[in-house]
Amino acid sequence: MTSTATLDLTGRMLVAGTPVRGTGVEIRGIDPQTGKVLEPGYAYGDESNVEAACAAAAAAFPAYRATTAEDRARFLETIADNLESIRDALVERAHAESGLPRPRLTGEVGRTSGQLRMFADVLREGSWNEARIDPALPDRTPLPRPDIRQRSVPLGPVAVFGASNFPLAFSVAGGDTASALAAGCPVVVKAHDAHPGTSELVGRAVTDAVGASGLPAGTFSLLYGAGPTLGIALVTDPHIKAVGFTGSRSGGMALVTAAAARREPIPVYAEMSAINPVFLLSGALASHGADLGRAFVGSLTLGSGQFCTNPGLVVAIDGPELDAFVAAAAEAVAAAAPTPMLTPGIAESFRTGVAAVSGEADLVARGSEADSPAVSCRAALFATDSATFQRSEALQAEVFGASGVIVRCADVAEMNRVAAGLEGQLTATIHADESDYGQARELLGTLELKAGRILFNGWPTGVEVGHAMVHGGPFPSTSDSRTTSVGARAIERFLRPVCYQDAPKSLLPSAIADGNPDGLWRRIDGRLTKD
Ligand code: NAP
Repeated sequence: MTSTATLDLTGRMLVAGTPVRGTGVEIRGIDPQTGKVLEPGYAYGDESNVEAACAAAAAAFPAYRATTAEDRARFLETIADNLESIRDALVERAHAESGLPRPRLTGEVGRTSGQLRMFADVLREGSWNEARIDPALPDRTPLPRPDIRQRSVPLGPVAVFGASNFPLAFSVAGGDTASALAAGCPVVVKAHDAHPGTSELVGRAVTDAVGASGLPAGTFSLLYGAGPTLGIALVTDPHIKAVGFTGSRSGGMALVTAAAARREPIPVYAEMSAINPVFLLSGALASHGADLGRAFVGSLTLGSGQFCTNPGLVVAIDGPELDAFVAAAAEAVAAAAPTPMLTPGIAESFRTGVAAVSGEADLVARGSEADSPAVSCRAALFATDSATFQRSEALQAEVFGASGVIVRCADVAEMNRVAAGLEGQLTATIHADESDYGQARELLGTLELKAGRILFNGWPTGVEVGHAMVHGGPFPSTSDSRTTSVGARAIERFLRPVCYQDAPKSLLPSAIADGNPDGLWRRIDGRLTKD
């Protein structure tokens, strides 16, 4: 365990390994449960800090991308070790800054180090290289074929915006940073104001790993500042080649717009808003509707509903079976105690969102009244018919927090129409018994075009970190539906393919060299082989 003395917070940014005090507005963490202001202050950086961090990242890139996969795997494991060695301090500070329960945050430290270790495994396994060789066919007629080989290379320095709702797993050393570093890209993080001290602790753990691994200091920087100024300066810095973001639709779109307007436009992988529909088919509803109602509210209210995968929409056929679901859900919502939200701003936008929904749908139940403004999330459940839902923007918009809408449909065709009219989603869930499989198959065809992950008989909160996970989906759930921000394939966002035609053998990168010195799975003439 690292001594507490070494964990004293400094209130400084980390620009290429050097602690730097900002010169702008000073912000502090706030304990959302007590309103207590937490020391130290973190002064915002300015454009000169952005320029310094990005120039250092660009200077680090040639050496960093020249490291072997094994070097980068060990570096990621060192970051994971460093985070685990300060687990208690991380949990305490993140608890104070976010109000999230300690057990949840302890799990999040494990998830964060687990992600880093998973990318170490991904690097060693090697498929990320996408090594392909089409050997020369000198005797082919009418024209000979040249020797053509392909592999993936990193894009360059990546800007990462820490998310508010996962102060560890989606923040400074979260999935975006881990996947970009794995790809061979230096990273410049803009810390989220909601957890500045947690960000510093994690930033120092990464910086220490950079030093211990003998990597160039510019491999990692951590900045504090306002999104519309420092954040936009970061995205528009010419050294930055891609962006990772999780947050609001307006914030994500501001970055997408800024990145597209650059002289050299760059990709922005923004994970933004979703209402994560749940479809209850008749057999499932008839056999255990009340249980489903209670379980739905468990998922809806988890973590004050502050999950991007929070199930904010239920779609089912109207009738007594749905009534049983609604009655059980209403009882559970009414019994739900008020809970803290991450920041006063998020609490305010929850209140505004619930007010907008209440103007367009019928209130089914509300959680109990808060006796203190700190516990600001009062769960809310509404119901409406499908016609009203389909013409209402407010009902289809994400309300970040524990608020859900139940849509009553006349029949399965209407459920399908609701599904077909939805915006893109991170997840869609189907509850189905065997008797429902015919209808489920039809719905599945629609939902495949709407969501990144389709679940059966479960709840979408809880995202496994693994090789087959997709945490993405069509707009507005993300700005690029071809990718995922969780799981092994997240590395692909920060790589691009390069083709080498008739390159002299001595100049070929080892991934695509003759004799397969890296021992990779490669496609030779289209066939996977380790030859
Ligand atoms: P946010 O307001 O989008 O902020 C996320 C990050 O983006 C912050 O660092 C923020 O900097 C920056 N940013 C915001 N607007 C920007 C702009 N116009 N230009 C440049 N940078 C900008 O998200 P949040 O603070 O996490 O929470 C606010 C809302 O986001 C929630 O109420 C919820 O609706 C949504 N949210 C969604 C998810 C999801 O996964 N779907 C997760 C978290 C939050 P500043 O703080 O300096 O503005």
